[in-house]
Amino acid sequence: MREDIFIESDFAYTDTRLACPECDLVHAIADINEGEQGRCTRCGALLFVRHRNSLDRSLAFALTGFLFFILANMFPLLTFELDGRSQSNRLIDGAIAFLNEGYWELGIVVFVSSVLAPMMVLIVLISLLLPLRLNRLPFNPQFQIRMLMHLRPWAMSEIFILGIIVAFVKLSDFAEVSVGLSLFAFVLMVAATVMAYLTLDDEALWSRLDEVKS
Ligand SMILES: [Zn+2]
Repeated sequence: MREDIFIESDFAYTDTRLACPECDLVHAIADINEGEQGRCTRCGALLFVRHRNSLDRSLAFALTGFLFFILANMFPLLTFELDGRSQSNRLIDGAIAFLNEGYWELGIVVFVSSVLAPMMVLIVLISLLLPLRLNRLPFNPQFQIRMLMHLRPWAMSEIFILGIIVAFVKLSDFAEVSVGLSLFAFVLMVAATVMAYLTLDDEALWSRLDEVKS
């Protein structure tokens, strides 16, 4: 770690300032490079990290997630067997079942959280990061970055997975339930999306946008 990354501020600085979460010492932030991390000059607490190749890693996770999204929609999620009859359910069938029963609000929420939002998150990530990788300016980057921030809570579909597990446990009492390939793909898709968000460094994103613009 570089010692000169942070300069102890005497409040004469107009740079962006950051207070140490452990000891409250205020630091003025100088430019730091990818792969470096900023630590408090007094107590050594981690202030922030700049990941190496943040954008490439995030793009790789988003592309992987999109592949799993396609797989999750191609195969059955759960298969029920009762009295010799078997029924397979795809990801989209949860929403369709609610709509058919007349619970259209619930149907829409399930559709948005299980299909639409995860797909949107991955599409926005790819349409933002892929052009940058190819040295092109993405379409309306400010709007896409804002969308990513708004979609962040929807990227965490753990609740949906939890719902499937609860349904699985309850149904297995009176029907033969087997887990389809789709469920594994869905879990991996959620994991890849969370990783895409975690590795995406805002700072690196903005500086890459500036680079491509000029
Ligand atoms: Zn400190």
